[in-house]
Amino acid sequence: MKFFKMAKKALMVSFTAVLLAGMMAGCGDEKKETSTGSGQIQDIQKIKERGVLRVGVKNAAKGFGFQDPSSGEYTGMEIDLANKLAKQLGVKTEFTAVTAATRTGLLDSGDIDCVIATFTITPERKKSWDFTTPYYTDHVGVLVQKSSNIQTLADLKDKTVGVATGSTSAKALVEAMIKAKLIPADSYDAKNFDPSTWKTGVQFKQYNDHPAISAALSAGEVAAHCVDKSILAIYHTPDRTFIKEEFAPQDYGIVTRKGSDLSKVTEDFVQACLKDGTIKELEKKYGI
Ligand code: GLU
Repeated sequence: MKFFKMAKKALMVSFTAVLLAGMMAGCGDEKKETSTGSGQIQDIQKIKERGVLRVGVKNAAKGFGFQDPSSGEYTGMEIDLANKLAKQLGVKTEFTAVTAATRTGLLDSGDIDCVIATFTITPERKKSWDFTTPYYTDHVGVLVQKSSNIQTLADLKDKTVGVATGSTSAKALVEAMIKAKLIPADSYDAKNFDPSTWKTGVQFKQYNDHPAISAALSAGEVAAHCVDKSILAIYHTPDRTFIKEEFAPQDYGIVTRKGSDLSKVTEDFVQACLKDGTIKELEKKYGI
């Protein structure tokens, strides 16, 4: 008898819960549509309500994300991709210039919805953010003053190299120098590598952005500027040259918060752009 009473009570409690949940869901039917109940971050609804997709982009990577200093207008493959993605969502774009040092903070805080900014996909980064399939692959290069007579990786031995804080560049250079047998492999531990303390065979100075590294190169504060060639292009003035080697392929993906419902949308978007020739078209348009 007692058992039946308890069962009846439990049934009533769960019935009330279902009723309540139904009523609550009824308050926002549209939200119900996007809710998965599995802890997914609901970004798409917010973007649509706002009418704006906020995108972190580069402002000095010609052909990728470049802001005209006089008109303020942004151009480049990544800008076009952002505009196409926004159009698909039925909203406008708002661009925020980001650097390797600022992009993830702005994404985590919700100041921006996604990053399309020469952002390299790496296994470590994938643990913290969602990355799409790559839409472009670049390589890391090294820019030096012609007068320095540095021509190869070997010439970089024991030099100080300028890199951007939070970038893949220092690690890429050390790994390339190890491969070229310029640095002993046993001195390197990929997991604990820190550009600020590395002193074996080459050392680094970290800067917040690339204009600062370029100025440091002119001032002789660093012997070289190391980053993806797409980013170096704008700093390749007649008095400068690239060293012979380029290395460490850098796959660029669109980056979203881990578990965001925007992640699947961006992935499907990149897949479609690769398939229908949009990416090829944009590479041609921007000569990249
Ligand atoms: N592809 C490089 C990275 O993701 C870019 C570095 C930079 O933007 O300075 O680390």
